[in-house]
Amino acid sequence: MKRSKTAAEAGSRLARLEGGYRSLLEAAPDAMVVVNPAGDIVLLNVQAERQFGYPRDELVGQKVVALIPEGFAERLIADDLRSAAEALAQQIGAGIELVGRRKDGGEFPIELMLSPLESADGMMVIAAIRDISVRRQAEADLALKVAELARSNEELGRFAYVASHDLQEPLRMVASYTQLLARRYKGRLDADADDFIAFAVDGASRMQQLIQDLLLYSRVGADGASLRVTSSEGALDEALSNLRAAIDESGAVVTHDPLPTVLADETQLVQLLQNLISNAIKYQKEEVPRIHLTASRIAGRRWAFSIADNGIGIEQQYFERIFGMFQRLHGRGAYAGTGIGLAICKKIVDRHGGRISVVSQPGHGATFNFDLAASETSS
Ligand code: ADP
Repeated sequence: MKRSKTAAEAGSRLARLEGGYRSLLEAAPDAMVVVNPAGDIVLLNVQAERQFGYPRDELVGQKVVALIPEGFAERLIADDLRSAAEALAQQIGAGIELVGRRKDGGEFPIELMLSPLESADGMMVIAAIRDISVRRQAEADLALKVAELARSNEELGRFAYVASHDLQEPLRMVASYTQLLARRYKGRLDADADDFIAFAVDGASRMQQLIQDLLLYSRVGADGASLRVTSSEGALDEALSNLRAAIDESGAVVTHDPLPTVLADETQLVQLLQNLISNAIKYQKEEVPRIHLTASRIAGRRWAFSIADNGIGIEQQYFERIFGMFQRLHGRGAYAGTGIGLAICKKIVDRHGGRISVVSQPGHGATFNFDLAASETSS
């Protein structure tokens, strides 16, 4: 290897420079290399020798491209168009990730931090070079795990979908024949038989509800259309018309402020409002359910929706838990349900990039809050 002339001439000054910085360099945990304005390596520490597999003598005076890839090194040093300071200024700051080259030709990922060093020979560059092989490996392992997890999650979702979909048909058969038994043989067998048939009918219809809810839940991920400009008042009208029977039966009064257009999957928005309003009607005291919807503009070009009811309310300790799958606070005897409704709501809001939460005082109603993206892009 031919030593560059500049490096040789600067020999004695370098010795002084080295004297001053040696202990500092050796104390550094990273490989440290000092490069002069011409791109020659003038100083390095033992960590650099070890990392790149060169004895010190073989590196001093070498171009820095011996260690880091061509192209990049050139950008580090001054050229006809830029001073060393300008060249350096463009690279200083966060670590730059590159590939390092060992003497034996082996390559490894490095992170480079550069800083300027004024000296009698002009502006030098100190490069701190960290071997990031371990970090890279950990990142790669993590990415692999995340991909595996996503795949198994997707498989699980598909399984839930297929299972609930395929269970519907045989279950329909069980349900309709037990109902037929009930109709045709009620009072014609003994009292026990009537009870048994009633249990079977009840079990089958609960299972149907469960399967239907599971199917709804897995569909939120499976066939969600892309988000479109959607009128939330339109979605509310549809949800209310789907809930007509429950509203009429309970005498519920549902009111709302003007509601905005949002970016949403309309079917899912209807489902979300329907689940929340149906809960607001269901979890009632001995009163007429009063439900009020509002929306207000919040930061991040989003709308915050609120659905407030005057029902039984929820204790604070359950505020998070009720959004989980199969989480119910009451027995079937008190209020019918599968414990999937709010899990569906959460999945829908998640899919829309929002958050859903509840605030409540037991006995004083509950308010469910969620946010959706605004349909227009201004502000
Ligand atoms: P389900 O209604 O089928 O039980 P959800 O997932 O919709 O399942 O709700 C979970 C639980 O959260 C309910 O069992 C109920 O205890 C509670 N909950 C939901 N909405 C309300 C509400 N508006 N007021 C009081 N409690 C509620």
